[in-house]
Amino acid sequence: MPLLVMKFGGTSVADLDRIRNAAEKVRAEAERGYDVIVIVSAMAGRTNELVGWVEQTGPFYDAREYDAVVASGENVTAGLMALTLQEMGVPARSWQGWQVPIQTTAQHAAARFIDIPRDNIDQKFAEGMKVAVVAGFQGISPEGRITTLGRGGSDTTAVAFAAAFGAERCDIYTDVDGVYTTDPRISSKARKLDRIAYEEMLELASLGAKVLQTRSVELAMRYKVPLRVLSSFEDVTDASGTLVCDEEDIMESKVVSGVAYSRDEAKITLFTIEDRPGIAAAIFGPLAEAGVNVDMIVQNISEKDYDEAHAGAVTDMTFSCPVNQVERARKAMEDAQARGEIAYDELIVDTDVAKISVVGIGMRSHAGVAARMFQSLSAEGINIKVISTSEIKISVLIDRKYMELAVQALHDAFELEKAD
Ligand code: ASP
Ligand code: MG
Repeated sequence: MPLLVMKFGGTSVADLDRIRNAAEKVRAEAERGYDVIVIVSAMAGRTNELVGWVEQTGPFYDAREYDAVVASGENVTAGLMALTLQEMGVPARSWQGWQVPIQTTAQHAAARFIDIPRDNIDQKFAEGMKVAVVAGFQGISPEGRITTLGRGGSDTTAVAFAAAFGAERCDIYTDVDGVYTTDPRISSKARKLDRIAYEEMLELASLGAKVLQTRSVELAMRYKVPLRVLSSFEDVTDASGTLVCDEEDIMESKVVSGVAYSRDEAKITLFTIEDRPGIAAAIFGPLAEAGVNVDMIVQNISEKDYDEAHAGAVTDMTFSCPVNQVERARKAMEDAQARGEIAYDELIVDTDVAKISVVGIGMRSHAGVAARMFQSLSAEGINIKVISTSEIKISVLIDRKYMELAVQALHDAFELEKAD
């Protein structure tokens, strides 16, 4: 029997009407001959509410009890979905993580899969069950405690089940109808993509296009699970949604597939630090220990081969991090300076920057993408503060007030509104 995994996010199961609507989609696939594994999120807003309650008990709560509480949201939806399917005459039952059992590490609130044994669910399929409804986001640790996978983790549960059960596809039902060339709220010309490569999706997901949890895309890429992102509020056809797949399965020949942005960035510069072996380690070691997620890094070439005041060569170091980590970063640098590990003349913080990135696997084989990007920004009078590149991505840091303009300009420059 071919098998399909269908995942429904919080807005798709926000109340009983929506659960019924989702169940109709499940029934349709079951009637087409699929065995179906349904992965559900908690009803919209429920996980936030549960997290809020835990936090109100005190600041130093036990992470194991946090997981016991926040995992419960998915349990409710799983049971209600199974009941709704049964009511429609579809043989279904629910499974909480421990019943499968979904084995994970003991890193509470950030657990990772160890194994998803198939036996229990396979046996029920063999006995005539058509739909297994599984609570997303959760598992059980080697110690037998309830674990959760980190916010947005149900996407990852869905992909892991698709890999474990050899599903034909993993359909992620959400409140948007697919993956767009950019955020439609910023550019009215944003176009839904029919297909996008795993690697492009990974870049877009980690760059702030919040459609899928990044780990779910990593997992899908590793196990080559075709992932379809589609709306639960529209009728489903073969053309629905966006297929996230292997680049070999993509015909489109666009060099750039999408423009992503990240609004809340900050830029920190250490002026006149010694230019000596070990200086980068002395800066980024303490930042890492302080939990600062450093993104872009620029080191100037030595300003002077020898600087009298510093008795050696000096340079400047600039890096970016999320804006809400600036104070942590500043403190890590001040402490390192106090310990005598680094010495800088000045630490300058710019909290009014945003990151804009163009992404596309076509960049691997096409020159000139950077030039086109920089020309189009300069034509708008936008100054580029920091640049970084990877094989399939070019990112720039610019003043935040130009973010929308930059996204629109780049979307136009690479003609992303056209389907080829
Ligand atoms: N309910 C969890 C959350 O809100 C997991 C998920 O929905 O993916 O993060
Ligand atoms: Mg989600």
